[in-house]
Amino acid sequence: MPQTFSQNPAPDSEAAVTGLVHSVESCGTVDGPGIRFVLFLSGCSLRCRYCHNPDASYVRRGRTRSAADVLEEIARYRDFLLATGGGVTLSGGDPLFQPDFTGAVLKGCRKMGLHTCLDTSGHLGANADEDMLAHTDLVLLDIKAWNPESYKALTGGELRPTLEFAERLAALRKPVWLRYVLVPGLTDGMEDIAKLSRYAAHLGNVERVDVLPFHQMGRFKWDELNLDYTLKDVPEPSAELTEQVRGIFRREGFPDCVH
Ligand code: SF4
Repeated sequence: MPQTFSQNPAPDSEAAVTGLVHSVESCGTVDGPGIRFVLFLSGCSLRCRYCHNPDASYVRRGRTRSAADVLEEIARYRDFLLATGGGVTLSGGDPLFQPDFTGAVLKGCRKMGLHTCLDTSGHLGANADEDMLAHTDLVLLDIKAWNPESYKALTGGELRPTLEFAERLAALRKPVWLRYVLVPGLTDGMEDIAKLSRYAAHLGNVERVDVLPFHQMGRFKWDELNLDYTLKDVPEPSAELTEQVRGIFRREGFPDCVH
């Protein structure tokens, strides 16, 4: 008998949970396998100098929506998402900034039989309870720097909570795609990258690593918000530098994953 899924996505108690939703993208292609419905939630505990969505992190813009409302919208794409081997990704900002809402949406998606993905810095990993993680198929984990001082200089926060979350996910054998933004002069220290690559390999649950070259495309948002953008003179990494860093991860057994 074919497996059937509920069309009533969220149990009543959770359907009413509300969250601040910055925006949605119905056909995302880079935030998990297949075609993704991506929900960008407002709010983040970090202050990354290269943030592409300062209007969802530094300034909490968005619309308050209930989990039921969001799940109803997602349900309209369910068959399409399933046909592409895709699913739903909660991103931001950081979805762990609004854990009750995130948990309710993840559960509702799973009830519809959809693959679920959490895109996070891990800085608020302690907000992800066991129940939430049980309804998460994949975590896209940004480790923004290996060196705690560099991490602090880049994000304003501490590295330790992210590593604790990474280790918790490893203990649960939860699949992780690690993301590393390569910024010349800030995150291009080869020794630190080599240490990070060994750490990622040692965890045992990291399925792939995406090395993402820093770019200036998000800068206009900083200008619009009158925020001080401190990376305006930082160049994008050369193809050679990006390739060199990808090679470090390749040596630890991670295949190339270039968007
Ligand atoms: S963790 Fe992501 S959303 Fe938050 S400030 Fe950094 S880049 Fe922006």
